[in-house]
Amino acid sequence: MADGKPVAECLFCKIAAGQVPATVVRETESMFAFKDINPQAGVHDLVIPRAHYANAVELAANAPDLAAALLIEAGEVAKAEGLAEDGYRVVFNTGTHAGQTVFHVHAHVLGGDFLSTFGS
Ligand code: 5GP
Ligand code: ZN
Repeated sequence: MADGKPVAECLFCKIAAGQVPATVVRETESMFAFKDINPQAGVHDLVIPRAHYANAVELAANAPDLAAALLIEAGEVAKAEGLAEDGYRVVFNTGTHAGQTVFHVHAHVLGGDFLSTFGS
């Protein structure tokens, strides 16, 4: 069972701990939201729980309250970025075929204009 403990070599654990700099959008006791370094839309933020879980399914299986809190925080980030009215996309890449490169669960919050289709 995953226990949420920090992983020393994990980039996003280091960002949540302030050991690697990031442009902060919002932070709470349990969540941290920051700008993606390589934005794929007008607004592209990442929202992570401070606790380390590899992906969204692992998070939900081991800490369902935190999974719900992550989605709620994604909504707060969208509001803070002015996306709530026109809409936005929340994406959890899961595994290498989906393009997941950082194995600390993160919600991509994308918006700012009409987004392209996806799935290819
Ligand atoms: P994934 O591909 O795993 O779903 O998403 C990882 C995201 O993290 C990518 O969109 C990538 O641009 C972003 N990223 C990778 N390294 C850093 C970093 O050091 N700082 C920030 N702010 N974003 C990063
Ligand atoms: Zn981590």
